[in-house]
Amino acid sequence: MNKEIYMQHSDAALLHTYNRFPVVFDHGEDVYLYDTDGKKYLDFAAGIAVMALGYSNAKYKSALKNQIDKLTHTSNLYYNVPIMEAAEKFLKVTGMDRVFFTNSGAEANEGAIKAAKKYAYTRDGHTDHEIIAMNHSFHGRTLGALAVTGTEHYREPFEPLMGGIRFADFNDLESVRAQITDKTCAIMLETVQGEGGIYPATQEFMDGIAAICKEKDILLILDEVQCGMGRTGKMFAWQHYGIKPDIMTSAKALGCGVPVGAFAMTQRVAKLSLEPGDHGSTYGGNPFVGAAVSTVLDIMEEEHIVDHVNEMSAYFSEQLDQVAASYDFITAHRGIGLMQGLVSEKPVGTIASECLQEGLIVISAGSNVIRMVPPLVIEKKHVDEMIEKLRNVLDRI
Ligand SMILES: *Cc1c(COP(=O)(O)O)cnc(C)c1O
Repeated sequence: MNKEIYMQHSDAALLHTYNRFPVVFDHGEDVYLYDTDGKKYLDFAAGIAVMALGYSNAKYKSALKNQIDKLTHTSNLYYNVPIMEAAEKFLKVTGMDRVFFTNSGAEANEGAIKAAKKYAYTRDGHTDHEIIAMNHSFHGRTLGALAVTGTEHYREPFEPLMGGIRFADFNDLESVRAQITDKTCAIMLETVQGEGGIYPATQEFMDGIAAICKEKDILLILDEVQCGMGRTGKMFAWQHYGIKPDIMTSAKALGCGVPVGAFAMTQRVAKLSLEPGDHGSTYGGNPFVGAAVSTVLDIMEEEHIVDHVNEMSAYFSEQLDQVAASYDFITAHRGIGLMQGLVSEKPVGTIASECLQEGLIVISAGSNVIRMVPPLVIEKKHVDEMIEKLRNVLDRI
C-alpha cells in the first residue's frame, strides 16, 4: 500500500479529532524519523516533547524488551518491583514524598485535582473548594483536566464541567490575587506554558504565588507534563525558581514513548489526602511502564542529559535569535532550554507543512508560535541542520 491508501484507510476508521499532516511515519533512528516512502525527517517535535532520548537508545529498548518477556501487568492489587524502583527514583529527582502513576498527562492532572480537593476536604470538613487556574493553560482533554484548561473553545461544548474553577492571567500576580476567596484550595499552573505558546513563568510570579500559597494554606499544583524531565535545563522546570510545589504532575517524556504519567505530592499533603478507595487505575504503574520510567531516569542520570540540555540550549537559543532577527514576520523568540518558540505573523500551520516538505518536523503552539521541543539528545550539528532547513522554508514562504 502507498501513503495515500494508508491515509484513506486511517481517515475512514479513526474518529476525526485531528487534522493530520499528510505523512505516515514508519520508523525512527537517532533523532530522525522515516516515512513509509523512506523519506528522512529531522525531528524537532519528538512526538510532542515525548521522545527525549531519541529513537535509538539501546539501554532503553532492551529494558523494555526484557520486561515484556518477564511480566507486563499485574494490577495494583499486588506489588511489583519495577514500579517500586521507578517510584523511588522519581521521588529522588522531584524531592516529593509520594507518587501515583497514571496512563497519561491528563490523568495525572485529574489525580492532582482530586488530591488537592481531598486534602482541603479532610482539613475543613466541607467540599465547596475552588481552584484557580490560568488563562491559556493546557492540562489535558478529560473532563477534570478540561475544566482547568484556560481555552474557552476547548471547554464550551462540554459544559457544565467541574465547578469551582476560577481563571487568572499567567504571570500576573494581581489577577491571581483577585480570584482568591476563602474557598480557594489550590492554584494550578504549568511552570512553562506549552500549548499556550511557550511562556515560562517569571521569577516574580512564582515567588508571589508561592508566598500566597504558604500564607493561606493553598496548595500549589505545578503541571510539568511538557516542561519537566530535563527539558528546560533542570530535571523539573520549577527547580529553576527556588520554590517547591505541594503537588506536581509529569507525563510526556516520563516514559519516552510508553504511555505513563504521574502525580506526586509532599508528605504534608499526602497525610490528609487520597486514601484506599479514593483513587485507582487498572493499568496505572504496571511493571512495563515501571521498567520504562525507571530506565529513563537511570539514563538521564548516567548520560548527564540535563547538562547536555544546558550546553545545547545556549547554542540553540542563540541560533533562533539570529533567525528571529533575519525575518520581519518572525516577531519574537522565547523559550527555556530545549523548549523554544518563534512567534510568526505568517500562518504557523503553513510553516510546519513546508518544514515537513523540507524534511524537518516542527509543531505549532497557540495560534502563532512555531514550537520546537526536540529530543534532549540533539547535537550541535542537528541544530545547524534544523536552522538551514528552517531558513529555506522561511525564505520561500
Ligand atoms: C500534553 C499535556 C497534557 C496532557 O497530557 P496527555 O498525555 O495528552 O493527556 C497536560 N499538561 C500539559 C502541560 C501538556 O503539555
